[in-house]
Amino acid sequence: MNTYRPEFFRIEELVTPAIYSARGERAWELLQARALVTLDQLRKRFGPITVNNWHIGGAYKESGLRDYNTPTGAALSQHKFGGAFDCKSRNVTPEEMHSYILSHPSEFPYLTTLEDVAYTPSWLHFDGRNHDRNQIWVVKP
Ligand SMILES: [Zn+2]
Repeated sequence: MNTYRPEFFRIEELVTPAIYSARGERAWELLQARALVTLDQLRKRFGPITVNNWHIGGAYKESGLRDYNTPTGAALSQHKFGGAFDCKSRNVTPEEMHSYILSHPSEFPYLTTLEDVAYTPSWLHFDGRNHDRNQIWVVKP
């Protein structure tokens, strides 16, 4: 799968203001299709999810694709490759999302990695990194 447009997310929610300003709708080309499928699957399962909200006056702007030189997060974070998103749910806690995903992995076939929720108190980080464990990998950021 090489292309996918989410049903529930617009591009502003998934990139920084600088990336949107530089690329507009062509910023979709910078995001990984399988991670976008996973976003829609999470939205369908858990209800409304916020990634970024800068476009409506909110503070989140680096919860999806990040500028390569940002000081936020790890130097080679999956966020810099368009494959990671930090999800804030209106209806369920990060712990609830985390435990549901780990007990229903087949509902999210392209989700390969979660961050340990002990380190992410108000969001759920997922990505689709290419690893060789045969189950969802829970990493400490
Ligand atoms: Zn993250």
